[in-house]
Amino acid sequence: MERKVKDENNGRIRNEFFIRIWANRRIEQGELLTTHYTDCDRNVKERRADLLETFYFECGCTKCLNDLMAEVTLAPNEIAS
Ligand SMILES: [Zn+2]
Repeated sequence: MERKVKDENNGRIRNEFFIRIWANRRIEQGELLTTHYTDCDRNVKERRADLLETFYFECGCTKCLNDLMAEVTLAPNEIAS
């Protein structure tokens, strides 16, 4: 969301960006809030490649790490079949 704000000091109009978020559960004080930057329905390799290309970081979130571990665990079975 964007809104235009008149600066009290110099009278110029500037744009401010903000986002409003509603929680669908109680958030505990000090709890870390996170969001996703890619389609979470894609597989882990696609998600991480997208994040690296778009936002220049290698994701280390719990979902990615769990999905990577699942792939490592499943890999020997896939090779055998
Ligand atoms: Zn991730």
